[in-house]
Amino acid sequence: MLKVEAPGGVGEILLHACCAPCSGAVLECLRDSGIRPVVFFSNSNIAPRAEYELRLSELRRYTDLLGVELVEDEYDHGAWLSAVRGLEDEPERGRRCEACFRFRLRRAAQYAASRGLPVLATTLASSRWKDLDQVNAAGCEAVAATASGNTATLGTLRGGTASEAQRWGPTQEDVSGGSWPLPQHTTVVFWPQNWRKGGLQERRNEVVREQGFYNQTWCGCEFSRKQNPLNQ
Ligand code: SF4
Repeated sequence: MLKVEAPGGVGEILLHACCAPCSGAVLECLRDSGIRPVVFFSNSNIAPRAEYELRLSELRRYTDLLGVELVEDEYDHGAWLSAVRGLEDEPERGRRCEACFRFRLRRAAQYAASRGLPVLATTLASSRWKDLDQVNAAGCEAVAATASGNTATLGTLRGGTASEAQRWGPTQEDVSGGSWPLPQHTTVVFWPQNWRKGGLQERRNEVVREQGFYNQTWCGCEFSRKQNPLNQ
């Protein structure tokens, strides 16, 4: 398994995760590299809600297995639709996807800052269907926006255990039902690791098979579902 080093050699990061299939090999790699992730599920792009819950439950099944903390962001598909308004007919890898990555990663960057986690990474580009440059640009922009105080408006979260919350700083109330921002604030850097290299692309597919993950046939939003011939 590939060994990686996070920026600054830190041992704890926030990992924005889009789904279980894209996260399996990344989480293994982090574990084997001695890096502890807090997994942040911020994916208001996914529709319908039942699909969102299915992807979340598959990811939770795996993080529970690994003993990794999972925090669920608020689901607000209406806000996400506003963020991509006018871009509905864009193809995948187009401008709608850029706006979608920015929407999700800004929330993740703000959460990382609030939790005092200095590094943000994402599983978004672990799929070969995603444009690595688009994801990395959105990640860099997200941490810059957070540093400049131009942050997302965040609401109620679900997740985190009392013991995890104690370890990471905020109280359980802060993590699972409190208001933003949490008191701690840290400058966050984006980690543009290519999670397809070093055998991780192959391992991704193996973990999907081993764990029997639900493996969706469209990216997430209703527009990608319509555009995928498998769903027509
Ligand atoms: S296709 Fe995927 S990345 Fe692009 S806008 Fe839809 S959900 Fe977001």
